[in-house]
Amino acid sequence: MAEYDYDLFVIGAGSGGVRAARLAANMGLKVGVAEEDRPGGTCVLRGCVPKKFMVYASEVPSNIDYARGFGWDVTLGDFNWHQFKTHNQAEVTRLSGIYGSNLARAGAELIPCHAGFKDDHTLILTSSDGAAREVTAKTILIATGGWPFLPQHCPGVLEHSLTSNDMFELPELPKKLVIVGGGYIAVEFAGIMNGLGVDVTLMYRGEKILRGFDSDVRDHLSAEMKLRGITILTGVDPIKLHTEGDDTILHLNNGETFTTGKVMYASGRKPKTEGLNLDVLDIKLDVHGAIPVDAFSRTAIPHIFAIGDVTNRMNLTPVAIREAVAFVETALKDNPVAFDHSNIPTAVFSQPEIGTVGLSEDDAKAKGIVYDVYQTRFRPMKTAFVGGESRTFMKLIVEADSDVVIGCHLVGHDAGEMIQLAGIAVKARLTKAQWDATCAVHPTAAEELVTIK
Ligand code: NDP
Repeated sequence: MAEYDYDLFVIGAGSGGVRAARLAANMGLKVGVAEEDRPGGTCVLRGCVPKKFMVYASEVPSNIDYARGFGWDVTLGDFNWHQFKTHNQAEVTRLSGIYGSNLARAGAELIPCHAGFKDDHTLILTSSDGAAREVTAKTILIATGGWPFLPQHCPGVLEHSLTSNDMFELPELPKKLVIVGGGYIAVEFAGIMNGLGVDVTLMYRGEKILRGFDSDVRDHLSAEMKLRGITILTGVDPIKLHTEGDDTILHLNNGETFTTGKVMYASGRKPKTEGLNLDVLDIKLDVHGAIPVDAFSRTAIPHIFAIGDVTNRMNLTPVAIREAVAFVETALKDNPVAFDHSNIPTAVFSQPEIGTVGLSEDDAKAKGIVYDVYQTRFRPMKTAFVGGESRTFMKLIVEADSDVVIGCHLVGHDAGEMIQLAGIAVKARLTKAQWDATCAVHPTAAEELVTIK
């Protein structure tokens, strides 16, 4: 008889957990997966996927403007939020179903339940009706993801604000929206809601949005967002929220009040560890509430691993998937693989988009690297007939000694598409001379990357 019920038990059926479970089950191992929601995780259910559809929907008004510039006799009609929401949810349901059926096809058992540790090989699985049972596993993978974080010091925030989770389910679009925060989610939803006709104010406690990004990118995006009609207030932090009728009133740290329809907090996300009962194990969370792991995603207990947002390394879906693949090699194939978290390209689906990979200029400076900067600003060809002040921005940071391109930062149409390919060149440590030796594709925005002087 087998020593354990499962060879591998995965907690969480998001992108990372499902990839690990499928690979393990395909090896012929007995795999269980606990999930208390539908399969798919943040990315499919309330993140990347439904968000990207919202981005597409919100870009239609500017595309209508371009169309008029090109001579089309078109006017923007009404936007039917309810119809959009229904289609978006249908797509989410379809993709979640594919996650479930992929697990089943691989032979992994998806168990709708909450899982918590009893000891280092035993989990208590509790289903929604409260029924609980114990299972044992030789190897356990924690892939529970993250959850929006709301600042507890602000009275009224829990009762009177929304998070990104709620934005896909809004009964109606608000007329006015305040978004608190200056990170990925804040700028993405600011663009989406603005495009859908909502009067958006973004309030950020710091000096400049998108801390951690290249400083010129932060300035350029701020200016572009303002051009599109988004109000950005910096150095502002709500200290109390209350409602009066349909209005939400924000009391700000500068003594002023601000009245709006709805308030969305995009003040970061926290690793989701509640109810895992990690205190019964020798696993202590770090200061951010994340599960500490080594380069191989191994926790303090050798047969318990953690991947994805619950480890708070780089909280991106493709990173969780690569960590899952490395986990399977390490833990199940006796072939230790550490996923390399350096030079990961990423896109922010703000309007316009950001694409970035490698070091920012400030990073390079902080590392004492001697570097050259190549940058350009130009009018996107698509907007030529409608005019306006909007510009595409591109910046390369090149190590002076080696000529290697160590950072690439783009703001403009299709920056997310362009950065995937630029990411290959940065990851491969190609030199500026090698970028320049590549013949341009004309007429594109991307050609600037190989002609920039
Ligand atoms: P971020 O960490 O990107 O941004 C959080 C923002 O909230 C920061 O501006 C931060 O300010 C601010 N903040 C933090 N605490 C408070 C507080 N107490 N009061 C007011 N503001 C506060 O988190 P997001 O939630 O935007 O996104 C989470 C992660 O999800 C991202 O880091 C990214 O990894 C991932 N993501 C990726 C996307 C993509 O790939 N396109 C899209 C969406 C999310 P400060 O800078 O001062 O700390």
